[in-house]
Amino acid sequence: MFSGVYGRKLDDCGVLCDLDFPSDPPVKEELCNQCNVCVENCPVHALDEEGYTDSGRCFMNVQPNGLPKLIKFWRKVIDASPEEQEKMFFGEDFAKTYHAQLVGFEYHCFKCYTSCPIGK
Ligand code: SF4
Ligand code: SF4
Repeated sequence: MFSGVYGRKLDDCGVLCDLDFPSDPPVKEELCNQCNVCVENCPVHALDEEGYTDSGRCFMNVQPNGLPKLIKFWRKVIDASPEEQEKMFFGEDFAKTYHAQLVGFEYHCFKCYTSCPIGK
């Protein structure tokens, strides 16, 4: 059975608030029709193993400006000359990782969700 992104079941999601209003009845029927479209549309094959999401593969794809890129950048800085370092700090890689740290991780995929035919 498909288990959703990050190994969670799709019905694990919810919204917390203190408003007093009746909820819709819980969805009881199985919405997933096992079409496998989400699995086929994952560009890094993070969903290939049934019932499991390879979060490492997924993270590397959805956060291209995240921690791995940041570590790589700073490793290069250490080995660079002062002139090269100055160029690096005004370069695109630094701007993107800096932006990602300021606004939170940037997500660049979700093809598994957007390709799912259910609810369209
Ligand atoms: S978000 Fe992208 S990389 Fe991650 S599981 Fe979905 S399709 Fe694959
Ligand atoms: S694309 Fe949607 S309906 Fe098809 S297997 Fe994935 S979650 Fe289920």
